[in-house]
Amino acid sequence: MANFDYDIAIIGGGAAGLTVASGSAQLGAKTLVIEKEKALGGDCLHHGCVPSKTLIKTAHVYHLMKSGPEFGLPTMELPPVDFRDISKRIQSVIDVIQKHDSVERFCQLGAKVEFGDPVFKDEHSITLGNKTVSARTWVIATGSSAAIPPIEGLDKTPYLTNRDIFNLDKLPSSMIIMGGGPIGIEMAQAFSRLGTKVTVIEGAPQILGQEDQDMAEIVQQTLEAEGVIFHINTSIVSTRDLGSEREVTVETAAGKTVRFRGETVLVALGRSPNVSGMGLENIDVEFDRRGIKVNQYLKTRHKHIYAAGDVNGGLQFTHVAGYEGGVVLSNAIFHLPKKTNYINVPWCTYTHPELSSIGMNEKRAKAASMEYSTWIEEFSASDRGLAEGENTGKIKLLLDSREKPLGIQILGAHAGELLGEWVAIMNAKVGLSKIAGAIHPYPTLGEINKKVVGSIYSQKLFSNTVRKGLKFFFNLKGRACTCEPETDCTKN
Ligand SMILES: Cc1cc2nc3c(=O)[nH]c(=O)nc-3n(C[C@H](O)[C@H](O)[C@H](O)COP(=O)(O)OP(=O)(O)OC[C@H]3O[C@@H](n4cnc5c(N)ncnc54)[C@H](O)[C@@H]3O)c2cc1C
Repeated sequence: MANFDYDIAIIGGGAAGLTVASGSAQLGAKTLVIEKEKALGGDCLHHGCVPSKTLIKTAHVYHLMKSGPEFGLPTMELPPVDFRDISKRIQSVIDVIQKHDSVERFCQLGAKVEFGDPVFKDEHSITLGNKTVSARTWVIATGSSAAIPPIEGLDKTPYLTNRDIFNLDKLPSSMIIMGGGPIGIEMAQAFSRLGTKVTVIEGAPQILGQEDQDMAEIVQQTLEAEGVIFHINTSIVSTRDLGSEREVTVETAAGKTVRFRGETVLVALGRSPNVSGMGLENIDVEFDRRGIKVNQYLKTRHKHIYAAGDVNGGLQFTHVAGYEGGVVLSNAIFHLPKKTNYINVPWCTYTHPELSSIGMNEKRAKAASMEYSTWIEEFSASDRGLAEGENTGKIKLLLDSREKPLGIQILGAHAGELLGEWVAIMNAKVGLSKIAGAIHPYPTLGEINKKVVGSIYSQKLFSNTVRKGLKFFFNLKGRACTCEPETDCTKN
């Protein structure tokens, strides 16, 4: 057997790469991680999930401070925010998590970390600076970057992406957000709440295109009520730098040309895989604009070269990158063949209210020509929702013909947390009667999970058939009160 420097080498020290590295090192494989930035952690820690959720929380607190009268409190006149302080808070959160993703920690686990720009020399070795490093197995986990489409004038117009948005010197007075996907929409609400005049431009007929339209519409209406301006079904034609302002020219669905001006432009038009500069063409690893092509075992054309995380163009979430890291470990270190399975992948868009989802929604079920029934429960009927002032949203449960859950979407406060129960139900294949019979604490928002299942059973339980059966067997006497058509019984 050839004598390689490492058993396994991973390019990219983000969610996918570090999952593989920590597992392989602890399992006794001689492991190398190569990272091109100055620190480990990847986009999620430095320019993605962590800074965005920290910013969202800050914006939520500021919004709450201004919402006193809704809670019976006095009105407060608040000074404008200083974005440098917000950036400091974001950085302080990153710094704490960074310790978990430090070179020292990975060294303790047994993995070596090198920083630099690796280039494949052949299928087993790379050059890194002036040295060559070889490994038996390679994992490409280089993530993705903001996609910058060829929009006329964009190359000459200053714009922001997720790499710059979290450490601005000042809060922009106005912002045009290109793209109504999760990143664009989360940032739209956060910046609007902090005091920026936000306009979102989306080419599709709805924002959050992966989600059911009725759910996405409530998110849009909520943001509109807070002051965000939306232009959906609107294509971006060109951009122009006007010095102190940027101009974005769009074409509406009706074919009208409209121009918008804003202090800043945020490009949130999807993601591009980080595939360039590694010499992938030298080793014939196949990729296109979506990402590196892999099979169900996450193997590229070469059975010892894997691609995991955003770079393979699949679902672009940190938890999916981590899951794929686990699949690579199973295949490359344990040699236990494991295929990927994305049926029960949950996700959440962290607007307020949040929109979380697992399994099929109506859009995907219709596209797959599946038969389903929907069961809905509104947060306006949640006692805790009312007490909290969190009564916007609903849960939507999709069942197949045998009443097995196909998928759940929750739109409401803490929807990401509320989905946890469904993650367990869907993965453990728990029967719905168990949820209907389980005692949930009162008053909690989580009761909505039991209520939506309860509505399926109560329809059957309180039916004429059951009533007739009980009357027959136990001689029940029936109704004690009957409402006349003209009487409003609810007033009694
Ligand atoms: C604004 C924003 C918010 C997000 N919020 C969420 C969220 O709330 N929840 C969620 O699940 N996901 C979220 N995501 C997505 C999440 O960040 C990604 O899915 C996740 O980081 C992917 O992990 P990865 O390991 O594939 O890539 P990364 O974590 O980005 O890691 C890739 C690493 O490879 C390095 N690299 C790149 N090229 C090279 C090279 N040539 N040589 C060496 N190293 C290289 C990079 O520097 C990086 O460190 C968000 C993304 C953004 C942009």
